[in-house]
Amino acid sequence: AKDRGKNAFQLFNKEMSNHALEQMLLENSLRHAIERKEFELYYQPQFSAQDGAICGAEALIRWRHPTRGLVTPGMFITLAEQTGLIVPLGAWVLREACRQGKAWLDRGYQFGRIAVNLSPRQFSSDDLLATIDNALDQSGLPSAMLELEITEGAIMQNPQEAVVLLQRMRELGVTISVDDFGTGYSSLASLKQYPLDTLKIDRSFVKGIPADADDVAITEAIVAIAHKLHLKVVAEGVESQEQHDFLRAAGCDMVQGYLHSQPLTASEIEQHWYLGGAQ
Ligand code: C2E
Ligand code: CA
Ligand code: CA
Ligand code: CA
Repeated sequence: AKDRGKNAFQLFNKEMSNHALEQMLLENSLRHAIERKEFELYYQPQFSAQDGAICGAEALIRWRHPTRGLVTPGMFITLAEQTGLIVPLGAWVLREACRQGKAWLDRGYQFGRIAVNLSPRQFSSDDLLATIDNALDQSGLPSAMLELEITEGAIMQNPQEAVVLLQRMRELGVTISVDDFGTGYSSLASLKQYPLDTLKIDRSFVKGIPADADDVAITEAIVAIAHKLHLKVVAEGVESQEQHDFLRAAGCDMVQGYLHSQPLTASEIEQHWYLGGAQ
């Protein structure tokens, strides 16, 4: 922290770019935001492509900044990664998502699984397993109701260790999904050595469906190989009925996107009929 203060001082001269200043201020307020409890989770439901039933909800972090308003993760996740703040922040996300999931469960809401994003930095942090275990214990959420979303990149940074870590996560009883699938460098063939449950087809492929022949081919290939490996497939970023119809016909198991629902606050989620909860 001392070094950081010194660096900040040295940076603080007239050559300092607006960008660097902006980043520094952001880092500072990010640090305080955790203590000040300025973060909030939104939830985007996932539906069965075949029968339309809700089958999960992805927790997506938002920062309710005192002056900037609602800040989306694109503005701060990278910085949180770089500074390591993602570790305590990610631990909060896990605790909060598990707490909310248990509260919904107790009130009779049918929401399937809660999916939580793990960043590569969290994935390589030593206390990840303990953090997951604590979040489950403290909340009382059954572990089978927690899904962890990990990117291909996080796995590929250290493939051998990833196998062991994923195995141990599985032993806790959680399910694992590979986020943004198709954008990284993992070959489809290498997938079989990892203990996975779900592949999420990246939005960039869903975007071109059904007009773009390459996107169609990639999507169909992902669905085919996933099913051969007994994995479920979620398509993210589904915005149009045409995309939905194509994905459903292609055998995609689940869909998530603006067509079905934007990410919602917990209380908005509770107002939705599809959860069928007791009040
Ligand atoms: P992601 O995990 O790929 O999440 C999906 C993003 O796509 C979300 O953006 C969501 O709001 C957006 N989205 C959903 N449906 C549609 C659609 O139909 N069309 C379009 N154009 N976008 C759609 P969001 O919430 O801004 O999150 C961005 C990224 O930030 C996430 O991408 C994820 O990588 C990261 N993130 C969000 N929450 C967390 C978190 O709690 N922890 C970590 N480590 N990362 C998070
Ligand atoms: Ca995700
Ligand atoms: Ca994704
Ligand atoms: Ca994505």
